Amino acid sequence: MKLEKIKEERKKNKLTFLLKGSTDVFANAIRRLIVEEVPTLAVEDVEVRDNSSALYDEMLALRLGLLPISTDLKSYQFKEGCSCQGAGCAQCELKITLKVARRGYVYAEEAKSADSKCTFVYPKTPIVKLLPKQKIDVTMTAVLGKGKEHTKWSSGWAIFMHEPSIKVGKVADAQAIMEKCTDGVFTVKGNTLSVNEENVYNSQLLEFYSSLDKGIAVEYSDNLIFTVESWGQLSCREMLQKSAEILLEKVEMLEKAIT
Ligand SMILES: [Zn+2]
Repeated sequence: MKLEKIKEERKKNKLTFLLKGSTDVFANAIRRLIVEEVPTLAVEDVEVRDNSSALYDEMLALRLGLLPISTDLKSYQFKEGCSCQGAGCAQCELKITLKVARRGYVYAEEAKSADSKCTFVYPKTPIVKLLPKQKIDVTMTAVLGKGKEHTKWSSGWAIFMHEPSIKVGKVADAQAIMEKCTDGVFTVKGNTLSVNEENVYNSQLLEFYSSLDKGIAVEYSDNLIFTVESWGQLSCREMLQKSAEILLEKVEMLEKAIT
């Protein structure tokens, strides 16, 4: 198995790579682990000391639960497996407080986290709007969880497809095809079409192009184009690494179970 990076967009938390010498089954296992099992921190309990905003407590707690928190997987563990036996300690719980008493929008950046490495990822996410004399004062407890329990713990998203290639022979009317090409896959010179390879991976229209003229053919190789997109808690590399670790753990568990 071989990996080749195609594109890494750090600002968008997106990574695309080519997976060679693997199978759909393996790629799908990794995809499912990323969506359902790679753990992240999310707010699970909210203690409301004061809330006179227009959002009632449950609504406020729901919004806080959905805010992505940058997650340091080395410092935290699941509450069930923690040495405190579920009582709650600094290794399995993260406390975040939010206390605001002024009019206007309250943003995620105003929350104070007990761990400077683990804070809300997107500082400008609005939480609630306060009118004059309204205030909120809450203490949140974030814990590690899995996307299969609640989607707020999901680390991101992953998709894969077979690597396409497009072959162009003689076409009847290159100009007419060019007019329908909206994603930069083709360029035209006279009546000859040529392919811009760098745009082929992202095109959603390849099948459509091949239906336009017999001279255009789309083929798929056994290589897979795999795209990972993070919601911000972990980097795409961390997500892939962790999913591989979880897969190994599961294989070991299966091995033990059948021997
Ligand atoms: Zn603990």
